[in-house]
Amino acid sequence: MNKRLSDIKNRFINRNGLLDLYFKVYIILLLIFSVNQSLAQPKDGFSEIDVLHYKARIWPDIGNKTIKGKVSIQFLVKEARPSGIMLDCGDLTIDSVYNRHEAVSFNVTNRQLHLDMKNNIQSGQTYELVISYHGNPRRGISFSPSIQQVFTVFHTSHWLVCKDHPDDKATLQLNLVVPEGLQVVSTGALTGKTALPDGRIDYQWHQPTAVPTYIFGFAIGSFRRHVDDQGRIKLSFFGRDYSEHELARIFQETWGMLKFFEDRAGVPYPGTTFSLILAEGNISQEMADFAILRNSYGKQVLGNEIDINLAAHELAHQWWGNHITCLNWQHFWLNEGFAVFMSSAYKEFRFGIEEYLKDIDNYFQAYEKVAARDADKSLVFDNWDNPSADDRILVYYKGAYVLHLLRNKLGEDAFWKGIRIYSRSNFGKSVVSADLQQAMEEASGGSLETFFKKWVY
Ligand SMILES: [Zn+2]
Repeated sequence: MNKRLSDIKNRFINRNGLLDLYFKVYIILLLIFSVNQSLAQPKDGFSEIDVLHYKARIWPDIGNKTIKGKVSIQFLVKEARPSGIMLDCGDLTIDSVYNRHEAVSFNVTNRQLHLDMKNNIQSGQTYELVISYHGNPRRGISFSPSIQQVFTVFHTSHWLVCKDHPDDKATLQLNLVVPEGLQVVSTGALTGKTALPDGRIDYQWHQPTAVPTYIFGFAIGSFRRHVDDQGRIKLSFFGRDYSEHELARIFQETWGMLKFFEDRAGVPYPGTTFSLILAEGNISQEMADFAILRNSYGKQVLGNEIDINLAAHELAHQWWGNHITCLNWQHFWLNEGFAVFMSSAYKEFRFGIEEYLKDIDNYFQAYEKVAARDADKSLVFDNWDNPSADDRILVYYKGAYVLHLLRNKLGEDAFWKGIRIYSRSNFGKSVVSADLQQAMEEASGGSLETFFKKWVY
């Protein structure tokens, strides 16, 4: 630990030996949604595919907590194998699958849809399957009938049949059929709106750049909305329990955060809109061009205007996570460690170094407690099938702390130059930890083998 950090540790932490209350809340909430992988990994016998585009229409029934959906999936067969195609389908019930106008026989095992293509597929060719389904998903989507609210959370294959793996990025057109009078936010930009004879509205959203499926999603509800379209990105803030004026105050830092992350990444914000939504439950989830935060975050910021880690974290994901995406969950710290670290870097930029160091020390303490329980692991580790709470602390907080250590080691200029090299050269791609090491070595002109061996591998 560097001297400045240990000074801060003495001043802020040893005083009472406790984490700040707000920080505890931040930690707990970020840990709720875990990665649980029973998702489509290439398996013996099944073809390797690259999904290019999803075109879906979803009919959510908020009152009954059910959905009906139809998706057409365009994909390239990278390597055709005799067992056919495998997709992820959560607990959804599959009603039919068509290849052009021909019905495809299928079965579902362990939340995976196996499609018998009768050897009718060839490597290098593109296909389009149309799948109809329905269900009452217990994860991946959260319904609150009493307030007419529904939103998605991370596990996309539980509401949209897809290849739910972070390295298969695809574009999306998503139509949502919802009752009149509700606000709808989804992935990308709103491109159409049609009133249906039955009184419902069909909203069409389009995500034009390929992104991983776990950031596909939507939020629907009866929200108040504050729009800030002074800058080149249209910012919208939604909440049910706050006035428009309060929403403006709660999210007043958003434009500043966005410019800060653009500067640090060296890559402009990729969309034309960004929305933040305060919703029911202990939610904190980034999606493409929007994020959902727990309702109580609003009260928290109205009470203390610098207590903004959560919104900054989710906005940082619009670069690190959404567009610079871990190739697989073993390198998940490149998503989460970055988002945690960047939220504190913004606080430093905006409110001073002590705020940053206070955060870093909290991250260090969280990590230290895991280490004291003998549960420390390298940041890259294989068994992500069932991560423990300690594992998640490592990915989020040891990850952020290691970025801080790297910053101290390299100094300001080389560190931020390295972050820009890493972010620019990997934007739109999948990353592993070696990509970060390579960018940082390029920026600093020296080997980081020992550092990465000690802290990352
Ligand atoms: Zn995150």
